Amino acid sequence: MACAAFVSGMRGGEGERHVFCGVEFSRKQWEVPEPHLETFATHSGEHLIMEQNMPRSDVLVVGAGPTGLILALWLTKLGVKLRIIDKTAEPSTTSRALAVHARTLELYRQLDLADLIVARGHKVSAVRLWVKGEPRARVSFEEVGSDLTPYAFLQIFPQDEHERLLIATLEKLGVTVERRTELLGYRDEGSRVVARLRRSDGQEETCEAAYIAGCDGAHSIVRETMGTGYPGGTYEHLFYVADVQASGPAVDGELHVDLEEADFLAVFPLAGKGRARLIGTVRGERARHADTLKFEDVSGRIIDNLKIEIERVNWFSTYRVHHRVTKHFRKGHAFLLGDAAHIHSPAGGQGMNTGIGDAINLAWKLQTVLAGCAPDALLDSYEAERIAFARRLVKTTDRVFMLVTAEGKIADVIRTRLAPTIFPVLVKFGAFREFVFRTVSQIMINYRHCALNEGRAGAVHGGDRLPWVIASDVDNYEPLKAMIWQVHIYGAASPELKTWCQERGLPLYVFAWRPEYGKAGFAQDALYLIRPDTYVALAQRSGAVDSLRRYFEQRGIRAETLGRTQKHAA
Ligand SMILES: Cc1cc2nc3c(=O)[nH]c(=O)nc-3n(C[C@H](O)[C@H](O)[C@H](O)COP(=O)(O)OP(=O)(O)OC[C@H]3O[C@@H](n4cnc5c(N)ncnc54)[C@H](O)[C@@H]3O)c2cc1C
Repeated sequence: MACAAFVSGMRGGEGERHVFCGVEFSRKQWEVPEPHLETFATHSGEHLIMEQNMPRSDVLVVGAGPTGLILALWLTKLGVKLRIIDKTAEPSTTSRALAVHARTLELYRQLDLADLIVARGHKVSAVRLWVKGEPRARVSFEEVGSDLTPYAFLQIFPQDEHERLLIATLEKLGVTVERRTELLGYRDEGSRVVARLRRSDGQEETCEAAYIAGCDGAHSIVRETMGTGYPGGTYEHLFYVADVQASGPAVDGELHVDLEEADFLAVFPLAGKGRARLIGTVRGERARHADTLKFEDVSGRIIDNLKIEIERVNWFSTYRVHHRVTKHFRKGHAFLLGDAAHIHSPAGGQGMNTGIGDAINLAWKLQTVLAGCAPDALLDSYEAERIAFARRLVKTTDRVFMLVTAEGKIADVIRTRLAPTIFPVLVKFGAFREFVFRTVSQIMINYRHCALNEGRAGAVHGGDRLPWVIASDVDNYEPLKAMIWQVHIYGAASPELKTWCQERGLPLYVFAWRPEYGKAGFAQDALYLIRPDTYVALAQRSGAVDSLRRYFEQRGIRAETLGRTQKHAA
């Protein structure tokens, strides 16, 4: 990274003010200090040598679950020097998270992962609701989503296969997960972190990084060290998961959800004929014996209600579900992502996808700051953008979870009488179906509330996901494969804008106006500045270059350097 040299070249700009996410700061605050070895080499001579030689990286990624692996992949692609460690000897071998949502696949195009996952997994084209053994409503994802995303389906790809694919991709980029390497703790020294690790040979090691990323799951050591707590709770219900070989009307490649007086059950199709994942709740006396619970103890209802015949059980497990969000996603030079930051009920299969979204949101911000192209305050927008979504998600999944699992007479009536009557009526309305699809697929996520994003042109706001359009065989998501800042114009661009972008190496994509763009919400000739994570940073109706200049200046982002530092990611 060109960090130190570039930043020293910027010194002397004291007194200048910038505003980021509502926080005002002076340029002095975002200068990156030179490393001071002598400030921490105060111990014995032996210790001094060790610390002077301690391995350094820009980012220490703790945890090689899906969140840590995605962070490592995006950072590597962006040219950031990192280490990724995991305390386990091997990647996990259980399938856990199955659903890879449309928004994740859209972002996965940046690393050519989307097509691979679609080819290796299983596409679910519809969800069907059953009540007391009868199918009552069906929603086709294809019908609802084909104008909204290239991935108008629910993609099933088990987490263990997913992790293996990410590890192999990372290795191709030259980065290996350091296995059996455990973070024991770290201290934040203001301009860097010093971490204590236990390596596979049992030896302890001290290492240094500009930033530490806690992707270390629900029992995160990084979170413990940050002291940001994990407020929330644990549901009383016990969940079970079973991967089975089976047959019957509910093993037909679609997703089936069964609402009953007593319990809730979902049947997810897996790749391969007759393979399915069952997820259900266990309550009452049986829930108190989680350790000894067997598939036979819960399978009666499945066979009765959904008429599934089980041929073989490949995996059976039980787990309790938490709903928690940590108080802060950032403290000093440490960040929390994925299950280390938020955890929720599996309703909607949002957990893993949200961790992946965290990682992609943070990666380009870290790279931009490390390259000296933006002040450290850019990193505060990570928490501002992602904590709001995590809190909303926990609240929503909580409500859905309560609806499908609540006990008592009234709850039974709502679940088995009202919901099955109202739901089939609601799904007849296109707007309702679209709302459900947008929410579950995560294409609805936006960061409008954060000051990093600005403006509105047509129906598109700063902070929105860029609407996807194919018009005359031109896919406006094609340029988004590069993890770089870029400008889109739907219509015509002014000569001034063309020159301004060209001088700064900022790619400008001009799409000849078509009615499809208007239908998707774009305004003709307006300017859309897109961030490297494909969200709209600035939407400006007039398309004037001044707005672009002001956008970068107000946030302290050095537009003139972006073209230079974007080379890796193009
Ligand atoms: C049975 C089950 C079913 C699920 N189904 C779904 C689903 O359908 N959809 C969905 O989206 N989500 C689902 N989830 C949730 C999903 O599995 C998690 O959200 C996801 O694994 C979180 O990824 P992560 O990378 O944040 O954390 P993890 O996967 O927990 O990874 C954390 C990693 O950090 C490592 N680590 C921990 N501490 C240290 C340390 N001190 N030093 C070094 N390494 C450390 C761990 O070894 C681990 O590899 C399910 C979970 C379970 C248990």
